Amino acid sequence: MKMEAFTVENVPLIKEGDDIASIICDNAEIKDYDIIVIASTIVAKSEGRVFRLEDIEAGEKAKEIASRHDLDPEFIQAVLDRSNEVLMEFPILLVETKNGHVCIKAGIDESNVEGGYLADLPEDPDSSAENIGKAVEMNTSKKVSVIVTDTNGRAFKIGQTGIAVGLYMIHPILNWVGKKDLFGNELEITQEAVADEIAGAANLLMGEGDGGCPVVIIRGLKLRSEDSTSVKEMYRTDREDLIKKGLRCLRD
Ligand code: GDP
Ligand code: MN
Ligand code: MN
Ligand code: MN
Repeated sequence: MKMEAFTVENVPLIKEGDDIASIICDNAEIKDYDIIVIASTIVAKSEGRVFRLEDIEAGEKAKEIASRHDLDPEFIQAVLDRSNEVLMEFPILLVETKNGHVCIKAGIDESNVEGGYLADLPEDPDSSAENIGKAVEMNTSKKVSVIVTDTNGRAFKIGQTGIAVGLYMIHPILNWVGKKDLFGNELEITQEAVADEIAGAANLLMGEGDGGCPVVIIRGLKLRSEDSTSVKEMYRTDREDLIKKGLRCLRD
């Protein structure tokens, strides 16, 4: 078996209105079943989702949370504005974003953004992935999948990895339940988080710093779905999410 991963070269510094699909098609030869992995930072920048703290006014709640953090109240306000729920205020500001993704500081990111500006996550990363994926398919007549990624920490371990925040034509979970192991035993619970695994692999080439490689193509996996897909397929429902329940108990 073989899987290839390579960066798309010559991606410029992305600004609002830039056409990421065209940039990809101009700089890579796309093949059927390619999985195009794109850092959310450039998707956000192309969608104009950057802002400055000067333009935000902090409310009481933001000021109160900020008094315990080494963060500006305006920054906390920006996080609150993008969140459905604050799961932990301190020592980490852990929220569920409006899109249902649980992460620290609503994914607001100052790395690789012009000085003085912050980048949001895309407002609807599945739609962003779909728009780029469909445009690439129109351009190339190839069938592709797209994964929009961000860098996130893990709950029980030190260190961050690339994870999927938006998907086009790839299901996030590969269900092994009912398949056989080497000894003929039926697998009972294993659901492989393939979109996060691919995001992690692509992140190895992207890096986190000044590499300038926000787009990675993964080739050799047959994971393109038949039907439409969403990152929400991998978010647990409130009823099933024991960790969220635990965090609410600690908070309230
Ligand atoms: P995030 O994980 O979505 O927050 O993205 P990062 O800030 O970690 O950046 C991932 C990769 O994309 C790194 O190699 C950055 O240098 C690169 N990158 C970020 N923005 C741009 C851009 O506008 N143009 C180019 N060419 N690379 C960028
Ligand atoms: Mn970043
Ligand atoms: Mn980020
Ligand atoms: Mn990153």
